[in-house]
Amino acid sequence: MKNLLLTLSVVLLSVVAAFSQYEYSRQESLPCLDKNFTIVVHFVKDTSGNVNITEQNVQELIDTLNVYFEPICASFSICDFQVIDNYQYDTPKNENEFQQMINQYNEEYRINLYFSDLVSFSNDAAGFATNAGVTMTHDGGIVAEIGYVLGFPKGLPHLFGHYFGLLDTWEGNGIELVNGDNCTVAGDLICDTPSDPYIPGDTLLLYINPNICRFWYRSRRDANGEYYRTDVSNIMSYYPESCKCGFSHGQYVRMANTYLSAPFKLW
Ligand SMILES: [Zn+2]
Repeated sequence: MKNLLLTLSVVLLSVVAAFSQYEYSRQESLPCLDKNFTIVVHFVKDTSGNVNITEQNVQELIDTLNVYFEPICASFSICDFQVIDNYQYDTPKNENEFQQMINQYNEEYRINLYFSDLVSFSNDAAGFATNAGVTMTHDGGIVAEIGYVLGFPKGLPHLFGHYFGLLDTWEGNGIELVNGDNCTVAGDLICDTPSDPYIPGDTLLLYINPNICRFWYRSRRDANGEYYRTDVSNIMSYYPESCKCGFSHGQYVRMANTYLSAPFKLW
């Protein structure tokens, strides 16, 4: 009897140990950057010479941004506000014009954040960001579309996601398999963000019941014939802003590693 009890206890302890190991690996702690980034804010004047956003508005957007980056111990502070008179850059028409603007006005070793009234060349409604711009000392930047980010403050963390090396969850439009087999080489290259079949320009109603933020998972299937189970709450998706919650663990790891692998660090 004693032996039986002993055996049972050993089995029980091994099971507990196995489960703790599993939980531990699933909830592996995130890298901590312990870094405060400084942002130069550039306001672009419109054709009437007005700037359609205030310093207070921007500070509130940065306060929201800081909440989303806290899990990797990154924060952002505004070090300067500048104004650009050339209204051509209030409506940059293509990536080339965006690049011209940042070549002309960027301050080195800072995050340069521009506010314009219309950013029509980007798939992102919130604006455009240089992918992995945080690894560049003077060639990267972010331009936010004023009306959009004022209405939807989660638009700015989305742009910063790109700036820290993330792709949109719909990249590849569903070529990432539902079972995750090709998740390291397809889609957004992140394995804890389920495959997202969205195609930019499509009406969202094809994909989601917006009233309850639920994916119509029976609407589309992947190459294996499996129904998509897309996460509509991911901040790097194109589903309604009201459905969005935040970044996934894998996205945080990638953002932190993008910064940590940069050959030069921003101030
Ligand atoms: Zn995007």
